[in-house]
Amino acid sequence: MHDLRAAARSAADLAAEHLAGVSRGPVWRPVSEADRTWLTRQSLPTGGRPLADLLDDVRDRILPYPMGNGHPRFFGWVNSPPSPAGVLVAPLAAAMNPSCAGGDHTGVLLERTAVRWLAELVGFPHPPGAGLLTSGASMATITALAAARHRAFRDQGHDVRETGLYGHRPMSLYVSAEAHSCLRKAAELLGLGTQYLRTVPVDSAFRMDTGELRRLIAADQRAGVRPFFVAASAGTVNTGAVDPLDDIAAIALEHRLWFHVDGAYGALGILAADAAPGYAGLERADSLALDPHKWLGVPVDAGCILFREAAGPRDAFSLVPPYLRDEGAGELGWFSEYGTEQTRPFRALRVWATLAHLGRDGIVHLVQHTTGLARTLAELIEACDDFELLAPVVTSITTFRHCPPGVDTDRTEALNAAIPAAVQRRGHAFLTGTRISGAAALRACVLHPGTTKDDLTVLLDEIRAAAREVTT
Ligand SMILES: *Cc1c(COP(=O)(O)O)cnc(C)c1O
Repeated sequence: MHDLRAAARSAADLAAEHLAGVSRGPVWRPVSEADRTWLTRQSLPTGGRPLADLLDDVRDRILPYPMGNGHPRFFGWVNSPPSPAGVLVAPLAAAMNPSCAGGDHTGVLLERTAVRWLAELVGFPHPPGAGLLTSGASMATITALAAARHRAFRDQGHDVRETGLYGHRPMSLYVSAEAHSCLRKAAELLGLGTQYLRTVPVDSAFRMDTGELRRLIAADQRAGVRPFFVAASAGTVNTGAVDPLDDIAAIALEHRLWFHVDGAYGALGILAADAAPGYAGLERADSLALDPHKWLGVPVDAGCILFREAAGPRDAFSLVPPYLRDEGAGELGWFSEYGTEQTRPFRALRVWATLAHLGRDGIVHLVQHTTGLARTLAELIEACDDFELLAPVVTSITTFRHCPPGVDTDRTEALNAAIPAAVQRRGHAFLTGTRISGAAALRACVLHPGTTKDDLTVLLDEIRAAAREVTT
């Protein structure tokens, strides 16, 4: 134990020094050949190594090569820097190491509050028990779709847990062309078949076209396929678009579809005053996925699925017959009755600490700061003649293209496809690409509380420099 105390103090110093120094280093750099070999090829030591010795390796061979997301000029994918409060308590959660499957201990009790706070933040109704923390939105989506599938079968007098999908009328699901791939993965995994997964086209602002949604539903009904699920996005990964949630909620109600909202990244955007009206209808969803490990910066992993009512997911997952439920656990039962995981980590400590440290005001400020910068980036882009904005900025994502004057369409396409990797290699900023309306695009997602307007200027200059590198 004395060993642990001394080593843990050194580890705390290492973590603090790492975080303090991250903005001075390159955003990303390749792992050296020697360290790459050590990382992948080392053999298991026969005798165990002392704790302090392990820290030497962490300091010399692991910490120097971060993925980049701690840096204020990291604009890639949707990966935030870790919240200080989350870093602070992560080792304590490990020290307690409970399984949050259930039982009567602080891990389980605190998860109730963490989940309720998330629901309250975005204005989603929260009956007790209607939600749980997950590994991320991918698992949250599987959980929601399983509950939806269970309800749809029950409506037809079947228990899908018993009968499986065999011999039943096909059921269709609707997602927009901009939906995250985790929806497709969940549909495949739950045996729903991608042949019944309908891709609804989007409008010019990359929002689900609800006229098309109605048309696809009607076509399925005529063909004898039963529509049962629609997923809207509150903040798509490509452009941050928020679908017309109220309209989709109305269509879902009319046809008794389960209405799911993927707010993994963007649900918190509702806290930016000018964006809030665009989220109307979010509170009408049957389920809402929201990742605390995205915008809030809770250290990975921390996802969350919220449900309108608690009974549905429990019916879909609980393997405890009602007459054997652990009454000592209270009427809500165990978390493991609401999802796929049995042994569950103490995610709630990191989520709770992050939320409590920021407070509501701090969270609102974070969302406003980052969405404000995404807008500023759009303004900078519109003021230059060598950049083109590709989508309206709704959350904290700006999607654009580098189009140096005099370069033809094919070259511009090749250039934009090559720019992200070239920017990453230069190490002064990190951005990733995507495809928008079939063409290569650049995409900057702002999530870091320490990012400034100057960082945006550096980003644009880095893109220009990378473009010259790729061209010559
Ligand atoms: C990140 C993300 C997902 C997937 O969530 P994971 O936490 O990576 O499993 C789904 N949808 C959106 C919009 C996302 O940003």
